[in-house]
Amino acid sequence: MSEILQQEFFGYTLLQIIIVLGAVVVGFIIIQKIASAFGGKKETSFGIKVKCLNCGWVGSVGKYDRRCRRCSSDSLEETG
Ligand SMILES: [Zn+2]
Repeated sequence: MSEILQQEFFGYTLLQIIIVLGAVVVGFIIIQKIASAFGGKKETSFGIKVKCLNCGWVGSVGKYDRRCRRCSSDSLEETG
């Protein structure tokens, strides 16, 4: 196994290539997590404050997910 890792490709050992690829993948994961964290904050700003006409629940729902979080009714009244 270690012999395969020491084999050279384009002047680099397979071990070095694996380390670089691993670093790139980890970098992409970190960038995506940071991007989704900022994206998540934007989504909450689209939350609409509503009151459920069915069960009286008050809270905020997404712009494209207008359903009561308690009873799943779509009879919601915007409260501003
Ligand atoms: Zn409800």
